[in-house]
Amino acid sequence: MTNVEDLIQNHMADLICLRHEIHQNPELGYQEHGTAKRVVAALDGIEGLDIRTGVAETGVVVTLGADRPGPMVALRADMDALAIQETSGLPYASATDGKMHACGHDGHTTCLVGAVRVLSAIRDELAGPVRFVFQPAEEGGGGGGRMCDEGVLDGVKAIFGLHGWPYLPQGELGVRSGPFLASSDRFRIVVDGQGAHAAFPHQGVDPIPIAAQIVLGLQTIASRQTDPLDAVVVTVAQIHGGTADNIIPAQIELRGTLRSLQAGTRRSAMDQIERIATQIAAAHQARAQVTITEGTPVLANDRIAAGFGQQVASTASLTPVDIDPVMGGEDFAFYAERIPAAFFALGVRPPDRDSYPALHQPDYDFPDAAIATGVALHVQLARRFWSDAADELNG
Ligand SMILES: [Zn+2]
Ligand SMILES: [Zn+2]
Repeated sequence: MTNVEDLIQNHMADLICLRHEIHQNPELGYQEHGTAKRVVAALDGIEGLDIRTGVAETGVVVTLGADRPGPMVALRADMDALAIQETSGLPYASATDGKMHACGHDGHTTCLVGAVRVLSAIRDELAGPVRFVFQPAEEGGGGGGRMCDEGVLDGVKAIFGLHGWPYLPQGELGVRSGPFLASSDRFRIVVDGQGAHAAFPHQGVDPIPIAAQIVLGLQTIASRQTDPLDAVVVTVAQIHGGTADNIIPAQIELRGTLRSLQAGTRRSAMDQIERIATQIAAAHQARAQVTITEGTPVLANDRIAAGFGQQVASTASLTPVDIDPVMGGEDFAFYAERIPAAFFALGVRPPDRDSYPALHQPDYDFPDAAIATGVALHVQLARRFWSDAADELNG
């Protein structure tokens, strides 16, 4: 068998260049036109690839060995950036004010490009087709769901993805079976009272103390209404209302986020938000309107797919470590809802450092030194998919 590490090293200079270009030219969800072009250009000249662009607007789907009979495995990366002003001071820092790759999707995209190149070079060793999914709009835009709706999982048996994880050192791979990342939904509560002169509160219905009671009432969803061994977060992140110190406003708006690790908990927390808000308002002769905007579902890793990743890790020079679930969201969940899937946390913290900038921070940068292991993990997941550990997934 070909030595994959040597093959990866042959591509490293190109891949580092590609990541710096993507990092310097960040694009928000569904605007990744330039990034998609760079992905396609980086695959120019490779024979036997079926490349579809414009999937879910700006997504790119590449299939290697489409005519192979075996079951198909898919690998996924995300391409979008965030609306944050970069402060890293790097030579390839964002050239666009107010946008940057603060979640490292430049690194994920680069690792998957590397995987296409390496797997193309060893295509004769593959027993089935491989699909590479470069999706748009992971950061709250539902890009993964739209990619699924446009058929990227048709014929696919299992899908794998990775996220650069600054909380683990390079060389480690966080693996978890079951719920790993939380569902992420938004809520908006509008409390309608009746405005009045601030000195004559009895002549109106003041929505401010009502909104305050709703905020406190929502705290009981986590503390009193959910199993202490389950996890739920209800955060009111915005309160808007009022115009002057001597006027009682007619309306207050509350906005926030709901996170959970179980589909059932998610549903009951949504019901509780609705009930607490409307009934506290009703108790005070006001009215509350609740709007919940569903975001990503819970990302639960398939037990067999996660176990397969754990076995493959060492062939990518990675040490698998158990990892706890976190309450952040990740729209890889849309794929995992549909077919066996596993999402891994690729350690990116330099080994000589105790800490590294966190995700979504203005100085985060997916380290070049983590690209090779990211490529290797993708390559080995695909390469070994038709052998040993993956038999159950293929069944
Ligand atoms: Zn992110
Ligand atoms: Zn991310």
